Amino acid sequence: MSAVIESGELDRPRAETATVVLAPGDGIGPEITLATCQILEAAGAAVRFEPIEVGEACYRQGVSSGIPEDAWSAIRQRRVLLKGPITTPQGGGYKSLNVTLRKSLGLFANVRPCRSWHPVLPSRHPEMDLVVVRENEEDTYAGIEHRQTAEVTQCLKLISRPASERIVRYAFELARAQGRPKVTCMTKDNIMKVTDGLFHRVFDEIAGDYPEIAADHRIIDIGTALLADRPEQFDVVVTPNLYGDIISDVAAQITGSVGLGGSANIGDGFAMFEAVHGSAPDIAGQDIANPSGMLLAACEMLRYLDDGATADRIECAWMRTLEEGAHTADIFRAGHSRERLGTRSFAERVCRNL
Ligand code: NAD
Repeated sequence: MSAVIESGELDRPRAETATVVLAPGDGIGPEITLATCQILEAAGAAVRFEPIEVGEACYRQGVSSGIPEDAWSAIRQRRVLLKGPITTPQGGGYKSLNVTLRKSLGLFANVRPCRSWHPVLPSRHPEMDLVVVRENEEDTYAGIEHRQTAEVTQCLKLISRPASERIVRYAFELARAQGRPKVTCMTKDNIMKVTDGLFHRVFDEIAGDYPEIAADHRIIDIGTALLADRPEQFDVVVTPNLYGDIISDVAAQITGSVGLGGSANIGDGFAMFEAVHGSAPDIAGQDIANPSGMLLAACEMLRYLDDGATADRIECAWMRTLEEGAHTADIFRAGHSRERLGTRSFAERVCRNL
């Protein structure tokens, strides 16, 4: 079942007519994007791709946003984007292209499903099956950050009632659509009483509209600890931007590897699909990256485009590949896995299993 609740239903493209903008990204991005596209093509997905270049190469050419004008116009015209990870300079340099895309396109919901694949990939948490729903435009990611003096810097945390209402309602609607019995809100409102306090208050108000769904709140620090220790106790988790970014990586890693996590960024009329992880420069160009996160994100994209049948077929072939013990290095376990495959041969095996 789709992890995504569609917004902008009326003008949403359909797979048979859709052209999706494809941004391979940086680092391992081109490798996992190629693998994903090969599998989609072998599965007969009706979707066509329009490639664009964004990220490092564009920064080098002096495009400060990392997104040249022709890329913007393709994205605005096609409205659906499959994107590889982008390298963002740490502690200085260019602003995050990911944040720019999410804010410019109004992609207010970042949906990150994380589930155990036990026993195919043995897990200490076989019952784990949760979705992190992360507010995607505000909080400390709103870009309000500056130097006050030579020794003092400031980043403002922006939390608004409209954005909080929208994401919290999205989380409850997702729980309702998927028959999930509980939504947990995580904030730090014992310290940030005004900003996180507002998010928590909105959560309590909206929970009342969904009496059939249990609602609870955890302070983010103990919430993260509990999620790491007993992830099976969580179902839908809704958070402000920064906390959601962190706990979704924690959750993806618990399933076996960050390389298994796919994610959807949903707005009104625009949607962007990508892996949870980054550009992994430490393993780029070595043909060892796991393309699964990108592939699962592409399956969510197909469902968004109303082609759930092809998405299901791809996920079955992917699962069959894992069941055969054909694993990329990040999920290879001696004594359990049978073959250690590179990115390309993993994709070929999934294609063969279609
Ligand atoms: P990362 O997720 O790229 O890598 C963390 C670790 O996980 C590394 O050891 C890496 O080798 C491994 N890993 C990640 N994806 C993998 C995969 N598919 N298969 C196998 N192993 C995988 O995190 P990082 O190193 O902190 O970030 C690198 C760059 O990515 C930074 O510039 C960061 O800003 C950027 N980033 C981009 C996005 C995005 O585009 N959405 C998200 C997160 C980080």
